[in-house]
Amino acid sequence: MPQSPSSEVRRKLETLRNRFRDKTIREIEGLVASIFNASRYPEATEELISVYQLLHRLAGSAGTLGFTQLGEQARKLEIVIKPLADQITEGVDSERIRLQLKQLLANGYENDIAGLGSLLGVAEPVSTGWHKPRPVEAGNQSVLLILEPDQQRKELISQGLALYDYQVHSLSSGEQWPDSMDEIDLVMIRDRLLRDDEVHWLSKLRSIPVICFSEAHDFTTRYQLACLGVDACIDEPQDIPALADRIEQLLAEGLATLTGRVMIVDDDRELLEHYRVVLTSGGLQVRALDDPSRLLSELSEFRPDILLMDVQMGHYDGPVLARMLRFQAEWLSLPIIFFSSEEDRDLQLDVLARGGDDFVTKPVSDEFLLRTARIRCYRARQLGKLVSLDSLTGLLKHALAKAELNREYARCTRTGHDSVVAMLDLDHFKRVNDSYGHGTGDMVIKALSNLLRHRLRNTDIIGRYGGEEFVIVLPECSLEKAVEVLEALSRDFARLVFNGGNEEFSVTFSAGVAVLTAYGSGDQAIDAADRALYRRKRAGRNGVTVASGDQP
Ligand code: GH3
Ligand code: MG
Ligand code: MG
Repeated sequence: MPQSPSSEVRRKLETLRNRFRDKTIREIEGLVASIFNASRYPEATEELISVYQLLHRLAGSAGTLGFTQLGEQARKLEIVIKPLADQITEGVDSERIRLQLKQLLANGYENDIAGLGSLLGVAEPVSTGWHKPRPVEAGNQSVLLILEPDQQRKELISQGLALYDYQVHSLSSGEQWPDSMDEIDLVMIRDRLLRDDEVHWLSKLRSIPVICFSEAHDFTTRYQLACLGVDACIDEPQDIPALADRIEQLLAEGLATLTGRVMIVDDDRELLEHYRVVLTSGGLQVRALDDPSRLLSELSEFRPDILLMDVQMGHYDGPVLARMLRFQAEWLSLPIIFFSSEEDRDLQLDVLARGGDDFVTKPVSDEFLLRTARIRCYRARQLGKLVSLDSLTGLLKHALAKAELNREYARCTRTGHDSVVAMLDLDHFKRVNDSYGHGTGDMVIKALSNLLRHRLRNTDIIGRYGGEEFVIVLPECSLEKAVEVLEALSRDFARLVFNGGNEEFSVTFSAGVAVLTAYGSGDQAIDAADRALYRRKRAGRNGVTVASGDQP
């Protein structure tokens, strides 16, 4: 029988836990022997330094791996042993240290130490309650569920949204509610159904974005809807471009908060692997590194949204690494979050001053780790987007789109594959603004960008080149295929119906395409696509024209 994603994760976490247990049994045996040695022979007191280091490590890791009692006991003993370890470093007479240790053992710590190993027999059950299946990849067809009692309106909305490549399922009432919501990405529901039906399926909506169709604008109703978990309220769902825009936003938000790139650095391999399993199964992309000396090269290659790092890693000190990273402008804004223990409060402040951004206290629960990482990735990327994405459409801004195009040009010339660049421009757009207002015009620009984003591949580059002008790069795509894709887009865009207040209208676009490698540079290819675009304008607009040099 195939394993469910959760039981797969559980199995991995259990394997790690067993590995940790096997390793730690031996380490604790060594630790107990060292302590009793040190209590007998002054020359053996040196061993207390590694005893302290092991206790410190267990205090931070055992809890995360499910051995909470062991973690707590290690923390307690760590605090007791630390002054002795410090005295060794300070060069205090070893006989004095031995006597202090003997005193500690006589005061009851002997039993605690001898009993450490047995705590490996007490583990919390592995819980994967936090685990949700991976979120849909952007670019996959999103599945929407619509509950609208008005049959005609339901049909109209379903058909309209299908143009945006959404898969739409519909129900007439909450009675036929599906058992599992795993396949559904977003729910649209008439307010009446939400309020009539309440309870039995409402809880299923918790983790899914919900758009409510409601004409009510009064505070009480809206407050009630918000209480029920509604994310957006729309009074005219028939306005398909506006509805599709809201859907797009909600899905993107949901996806964005669930994805991200995390790099973790920790020299404790089981712990590192545990973090990796938890974050990966929560949908994040993870690069785990147990050797801090490879930090710089791994960072350049992986380009994470955030960096999670332990404070003490063998020869390396996390805060020093953070300071070192800040030498390079490139990593100045990378959020660095440290795993540290409760006892490190002074160190925490110190680290903040030296280039770290925040702390997660060890031991860290799986759910907390995942939530923290997701939120921080999301915030980090939002900040990045402010710089590079156009605010109206969420597409790449002019300069970045051009940079991406040049990058693709270089890739083409290196590997010899074909890629295509297209310039798009809305037809008679001035008229749209003049007749229906600038706000409606904005809606049309957004509708086209949403359609492009939805219908093109994840790897395609889409930029807002100017006001109502877009640039698209289709990597590894033949000219014929590009023309076919763009023609289908232009047909479907022309079929979208916009709401202009008192009347409905539709808009078309013109496009010019050119094969990147047919030109001496990315810029020249753009110029060729632009010239083709203007030939299309003169030839009557609404369609696709190939640059003259590229004609097959
Ligand atoms: P053509 O078919 O030849 O492209 O005609 P056109 O009217 O689309 O071309 P023109 O370049 O004369 O006008 C473009 C208009 O697009 C003018 C400008 O006000 C409008 N525009 C540019 N950016 C925006 C925007 O962000 N929002 C809105 N609503 N309008 C914009
Ligand atoms: Mg235009
Ligand atoms: Mg224009």
